[in-house]
Amino acid sequence: MAKDYYALLGVGRDATPEEIKRAYRKLARELHPDVNPDEEAQERFKEVSSAYEVLSDPAKREVVDLGGDPLAPGGMGQGGGGAGGPFGMGFQDIMDAFFGGTGATAGRGPRPRTRPGSDAMIRLDLELDEMAFGVNPELTVDTAEICDDCSGAGTAPGTQPVTCDVCHGRGEVQSVQRSFLGQVMTTRACSACQGYGTVIPTPCATCDGEGRVRSRRKLTVKVPAGVEDGMRIRLAGEGEVGPGGGPSGDLYIEVRERPHDVFSRKGDDLHCRVSVPMTAAALGAKLTLKTLDGEEAIDVGAGTQAGAVVRVRGKGVPHLRGTGRGDLHVHLDVKVPTKLDEEQEKLLRELAKLRAEEHPEPERNTTGFFSKVRDAFQGHG
Ligand SMILES: [Zn+2]
Ligand SMILES: [Zn+2]
Repeated sequence: MAKDYYALLGVGRDATPEEIKRAYRKLARELHPDVNPDEEAQERFKEVSSAYEVLSDPAKREVVDLGGDPLAPGGMGQGGGGAGGPFGMGFQDIMDAFFGGTGATAGRGPRPRTRPGSDAMIRLDLELDEMAFGVNPELTVDTAEICDDCSGAGTAPGTQPVTCDVCHGRGEVQSVQRSFLGQVMTTRACSACQGYGTVIPTPCATCDGEGRVRSRRKLTVKVPAGVEDGMRIRLAGEGEVGPGGGPSGDLYIEVRERPHDVFSRKGDDLHCRVSVPMTAAALGAKLTLKTLDGEEAIDVGAGTQAGAVVRVRGKGVPHLRGTGRGDLHVHLDVKVPTKLDEEQEKLLRELAKLRAEEHPEPERNTTGFFSKVRDAFQGHG
């Protein structure tokens, strides 16, 4: 039985040549081995290609319409594929050759020797107070800089690039492949000049013709107050000089905050945890605390419970944008004495007696254990 070439392309028997072409283009985009490595797809691509070969040729299409198969042995065909088949051709070649160039390989012309440089990135580890108040560290930067000896041209003093005699300055060479659709012209970068259209007969000895050299230099970075972990500071034009002395890329400084042993940071707020003796929690006290700015007195009210939070306004991290600062949240733990001498124990027992707490009943907390756990996860304050 003859193959149904129309069904393979998914077109009707009355499809116009334009519709057949569109259908094949669509399928080739999905199935070409360059874009779809799947074996089944490759098999289908072969079938679809032979269907296109047949239906795009009016003489062969007529044979199909009369119930024959032009590709069957003994049929009229050249036997499909062969040296001219599409299977040796790249996906882009097919797209360009049959359906008009998309720009990827068509009409490139010589590529410029001078190209923009790439961006570079440096990680900068900072302490919390440096992040909070800003800092101007001096960094050592390894980048590519323009070669002074040739000013980026890549040529030895007194010499010039010369036109490539393989591609005659075009930077690309064309080759012709035969296929069932006739001659297909493909264009590739010239390998003699790497597509530049010119060659440098005597490269600059300093940069080896690159037009740029590796260099190490010092750079002072202004890190503003209030930066956050992971932020990047962009220094325009401080990245790599491009090949052939092209314009420099940008340098990005990514700031990383070193963990602080007292404060943890959430946005611009700081959190810390301090313990107060049981007696201070019960009687109230004034504590002196070290903050980022120096010492700060905080009030622990009488009857403070474990887990209470004292908020010290404006002692967090300055806001990066705008004015003002975050707050410092001091989480209080209550320390219960573990060793009591005779007198202390006596006093405590007396206190317990006075408070009728010698035989305490377990007191049910109305909020319950699980809501306490939830509070702990959500943080205090
Ligand atoms: Zn060339
Ligand atoms: Zn040079």
